[in-house]
Amino acid sequence: MLALLRRLVETESPSTDKAAVDRLGKLVAGVARKFGERVRFYPSQTTGNHLRAEFRFDSRPARGQILLLGHLDTVWSLGTLKRMPFRIKGSRAYGPGVFDMKSGIVIGLFALGALRKLQIPIRKNIMMLLNADEEIGSPSSRPITEREARRSDAALVLEPAHGPRGALKTARKGTGEFELRVRGRAAHAGLEPEKGVNAILELSRQLLVIEKLADKKRGITFNPGIVRGGTRANVIPDQALATIDVRVMRAEDQVRAERGLRALRPYDRRATLAITGGFNRPPFERSKAVAALLDRARRLAEPLGIELSEATVGGGSDGNFTAALGVPTLDGLGAVGEGAHAVHENIVIAELPRRAALLAHLIADLAGARD
Ligand SMILES: [Zn+2]
Repeated sequence: MLALLRRLVETESPSTDKAAVDRLGKLVAGVARKFGERVRFYPSQTTGNHLRAEFRFDSRPARGQILLLGHLDTVWSLGTLKRMPFRIKGSRAYGPGVFDMKSGIVIGLFALGALRKLQIPIRKNIMMLLNADEEIGSPSSRPITEREARRSDAALVLEPAHGPRGALKTARKGTGEFELRVRGRAAHAGLEPEKGVNAILELSRQLLVIEKLADKKRGITFNPGIVRGGTRANVIPDQALATIDVRVMRAEDQVRAERGLRALRPYDRRATLAITGGFNRPPFERSKAVAALLDRARRLAEPLGIELSEATVGGGSDGNFTAALGVPTLDGLGAVGEGAHAVHENIVIAELPRRAALLAHLIADLAGARD
């Protein structure tokens, strides 16, 4: 598992570099084909191609489908390996994308390989989708993920586990990005300040109103992450804008949060406000079906000596798309480690085979002959 992981990490794959992601896609496709599977790509012009590997274990027509979800891309630019090479230190492996989520790909492939080698009866089609654009919001792979999710009885997401004990993710916030643009009126700050409408001041006041739209208890957050405005200190600025990250726990709060932003009115009537943007990922809510799937995983984990816990996280994944369609979804089935998107990104090596075993058991249970 480590040898394959090393090859994947050393094939850098930033979302923004199509050629690089395609190189990794080809490498992974080659490994998947060793199992004799039907592997093909969904071509994408704007991002790397999305990989689809179908695993059939039975010659009879499949009785349903299980979706395995992951992504090929990382947040790390080409050349990161030079200062952050793949390396093993103590019980951990380090490198760009090692945790999020190249080890998840390894875990998925090894779980399927084990099921094949041990000739475990599997009656469902196992569809593995590894897209090329998750880290930039899955703009081009989303329809593919949703189409396959609709055909699936469950979605298993190979994203990193949560925390040192490898908790599964059974709820994720929905994420949105909005832009608030303020238009004021420019004037000389010294000669005729009364003729100006200061867009920066107006924006500042609006941001304080936005702060009050948040609801900690319900898990609704607004984060103005970028502000821009003005040209020179002696000019009253006529333009200012803020980019705001919005997160919600429940689908109904998506509407509420958006309505709150659209209801903003200018403090200074001479100023104008414009709100653009929207929600990119709907919330992944912990439905009854999700809870039942977690119970199943817990029961299967016990004999493996794994005590499975669950977590709710603020970050979105493609699991948000499948869960929002009502498909029972379990997320965080990938590696145990820490530091996603950070320079100390690493995984616990000993957990790799344990997670693969857990995934294999889960697939066998969900797609086995008894179902
Ligand atoms: Zn990820």
